Amino acid sequence: MGTLITSVISGDVPQAVTTEVCGLLRSLEERLTVNGPPSARIKSQVNAINECSGITAVTADSEVYRIVRKAVTASREYRNSFNALIGPVVKSWGIGFDSPRLPSDAEISELLTLTDPFEVELNDEASTVKLLKKGMQLDLGAIAKGYAADLAAKVYNNHGVNQGLIDLGGNVLAMGGSDRAADGLWRIGIQSPFKPRGTSLGTLALRDCSAVTSGIYERSFEKDGKHYHHMINPATGYPFETDIASVTVIAATSTIADLWTTILQSGGLAQSHYKAENESGIEAVFVTKERLVLPTSGIRDVFTHTDNDYKLISHP
Ligand code: AMP
Ligand code: MG
Repeated sequence: MGTLITSVISGDVPQAVTTEVCGLLRSLEERLTVNGPPSARIKSQVNAINECSGITAVTADSEVYRIVRKAVTASREYRNSFNALIGPVVKSWGIGFDSPRLPSDAEISELLTLTDPFEVELNDEASTVKLLKKGMQLDLGAIAKGYAADLAAKVYNNHGVNQGLIDLGGNVLAMGGSDRAADGLWRIGIQSPFKPRGTSLGTLALRDCSAVTSGIYERSFEKDGKHYHHMINPATGYPFETDIASVTVIAATSTIADLWTTILQSGGLAQSHYKAENESGIEAVFVTKERLVLPTSGIRDVFTHTDNDYKLISHP
């Protein structure tokens, strides 16, 4: 999944459980990936869906179908911020890959015609997916890690392992509480967008939920002095341009948290903060390019600000 995955589990975990979790994560990556050489995509059901666009429906297994369905229905609802049909545009930018490039305006507008989330046929009975136009491509990059974390937690839970911290490169799932702190809460650091990886600007004290961060610092490239990052505005085909540097979303499941990190990239601080405050089950910490830090009201009490290079504010 292009990241280092760590899981910290309280107490003893049978090796067989660890092996099962690792196997599940590998197999999920193989089944979902749309990146890498053809040999890396051979088992990818999402790749098969993409290659059959405009031709035929493809059968997905239940785990793959569930995430595709979630991604497509969320895209219909939030299409100007989250759109998993953005694949052709993401591919043409190539951000995060060997040779990122700046596509022409004409190329982008052409590719945007292949991103309509309503031009997808989902068949719940048959568990099939068809992209109606040739050249359409699903890209689950914005929620796959969240889904993977949820499924990994499920494997642990099935074996009676209920306490731990699963971290897929900034996509953190807190299973149960922590036995390391007297209050039973896990301490989860929020990456400072402008400092080396591993430097946090504050911590969240949480249990039984997921905290996922997306930032413009993660994957990007520069051309002619301009910074282009990996989160694309589905309305324009260009990276989102707002005052937000990163968003951390806290939700009950990692899939939802991951989804919302992308939804909250559009619109800028004032609008996205308002959206997060008004969405039940969603809390967030916003960090702006001007180094302001704004948590939503529901988590203000569990957020500890630790870096004075950032200014904590209480409203936009
Ligand atoms: P995340 O790592 O959650 O920030 O998701 C970013 C990844 O999702 C990108 O690398 C793309 O593969 C994909 N992506 C980019 N922009 C969007 C978007 N607006 N909606 C859905 N997926 C996107
Ligand atoms: Mg995301």
